[in-house]
Amino acid sequence: MIDGCGRIIDHLRLSLTDRCNLACRYCAPEHGALPRDRLDAQLAYAIVHWLATRHGVRHVRLTGGEPLLHPHLIPLVERLSRLGDLHELTLTTNGQSLTQRAAALRAAGLDRVNVSLDTLDPQRFAQVTRGGNVQRTLAGIEAALAAGLTPVRINVVAQRGLNDHELADIAAWGLARGCTVRFLEVMPIGPLAHVMEQHLVGAAEILARLSARFQLRPISASTGQPAVDYAATGDDLRGVVGIIAPTTRPFCAQCRRLRVTARGQLVSCLHDDRRYDLTRWWDGRTLDSTGADTTLRTAVADKPAAGVAAQPACMRSLGG
Ligand code: SAM
Repeated sequence: MIDGCGRIIDHLRLSLTDRCNLACRYCAPEHGALPRDRLDAQLAYAIVHWLATRHGVRHVRLTGGEPLLHPHLIPLVERLSRLGDLHELTLTTNGQSLTQRAAALRAAGLDRVNVSLDTLDPQRFAQVTRGGNVQRTLAGIEAALAAGLTPVRINVVAQRGLNDHELADIAAWGLARGCTVRFLEVMPIGPLAHVMEQHLVGAAEILARLSARFQLRPISASTGQPAVDYAATGDDLRGVVGIIAPTTRPFCAQCRRLRVTARGQLVSCLHDDRRYDLTRWWDGRTLDSTGADTTLRTAVADKPAAGVAAQPACMRSLGG
């Protein structure tokens, strides 16, 4: 697939559910209706099969919400991993129930996991996630490493006043275990956009804080990767850290992504609130691929050159 700006689209973020067992303060509003959308596993498989075999999608990341909450996750991963067309099948999780699932996910054919971890401090973790248990996520990361879901990537959203002083410590924790540690600027999207703007820690500051502890040498980025990665050495540690800077250094020109929400709707850009419904082509058993192609063509043609519009939906309903 090539969009109207000449970008190759071959990455898919597939949201399996918009439910989550955490409610991170930059992602979910404190009050309001609880989400409850869940993508039917048959439809999820049909969408990936259609996009991989007819449209060249090669990288699939299962996300949410919290994808580990999907009741048919393991059989779905098993089926998806047998699709010969995919180069990579990964999953993003908060890690709260990863200890129990890591070995089964690996056995089912998942390639690796990204685990979100914004702080190592139990109280701050509970505060930012509104009730999460950091020990469970740390144990989940160890379980993913033991199961071979590697390289495990740790995603850290840098937040002023929460973890800005702790970034190098989190990097050290991850590097000591052979994880890649990626630091993300917080994105002002969803109903909390105005609040999150105040917590932004920009890429330059993240880099400065990491450089105070590690020597960093830039590594050339691979295609489709918004992160700028660095070989890090210091404190008797070596490994890879990265910075993803959607706010201060947007990477729209290199964006190769489509998203599908837990309602079965295509989203062509994180900052665009248009949705393109795929469920109208689903009869409960098969996806009408010719019909779905027409919806896809519109979504891809509409993909904005750059994400500028405000996004009213929060990340967990978009498939972060
Ligand atoms: N529940 C899973 C998890 O926690 O990784 C997957 C879904 S979560 C929405 C995916 C990623 O989006 C997480 O790494 C989270 O930190 C990130 N995220 C959510 N809202 C964000 C925001 N406003 N800015 C930056 N990253 C955000």
